[in-house]
Amino acid sequence: MKELWDGHAHLGTEEERQFRERERIRTMICAGDPREAEELEDLSGSWIVKAYGLHPWKADPAALKAMEPWLKRAQIIGEIGMDSVWCGVDRKVQQEVFCRQLELACAEKKPVVLHVKGMEKEAAERIREYPGTYLVHWYSDLNWLDLYLEQDCYFTVGPDVGQNPAVRQVALRVPLSRLMVETDGLGAVKWALGEDLPLNGVKQALENSLKWIAQARGLELEEVYRLTEENFRRFAGI
Ligand SMILES: [Zn+2]
Repeated sequence: MKELWDGHAHLGTEEERQFRERERIRTMICAGDPREAEELEDLSGSWIVKAYGLHPWKADPAALKAMEPWLKRAQIIGEIGMDSVWCGVDRKVQQEVFCRQLELACAEKKPVVLHVKGMEKEAAERIREYPGTYLVHWYSDLNWLDLYLEQDCYFTVGPDVGQNPAVRQVALRVPLSRLMVETDGLGAVKWALGEDLPLNGVKQALENSLKWIAQARGLELEEVYRLTEENFRRFAGI
């Protein structure tokens, strides 16, 4: 059986976790606040790759302080970033929390997962000040992609690649050595593709993105499986 590598997801339900384990879907799970960090810490299984970072939706000085021990222990920082579309958190607070986490990741040379919704240009400018290894998750803006390509970032192709021209652009333009696929968890796949999807929607979304990339880039499907695994391993250092 070919292994699937999901470059970005969240804790999800117990049922979803069991599904991922059963199907051997290697998954990078991001814990977005201290409570999630504790829950993730307690999970085990060779299918899980753990990342810790205060999510922009949760940006707040006290939460950052509580998150710092997790950031110090983390092998991968994320998802962190800024968001002007899906949250009302004060922009200045978001930026401070983002920069503090970038500083820490940069000082300790840890790879970082980015969330940049609506703040694509600003976030690209911020990370320039903290050279490192970045993965931009589910990039979905038609503009500013070049600002990240210039900085040699990794990208995950979101599950709506078939429907969303901005996501398609990522699948078409990102170097093959920097591409991965992701679901962002079953909840996000349902949000993007249809609420009635079963658990298997996780697997189908990943397979569909891999097929889409293979066709668009003129590659054998096997080759895309191999590339996304290699890129995931290189980014995560595993
Ligand atoms: Zn996410």
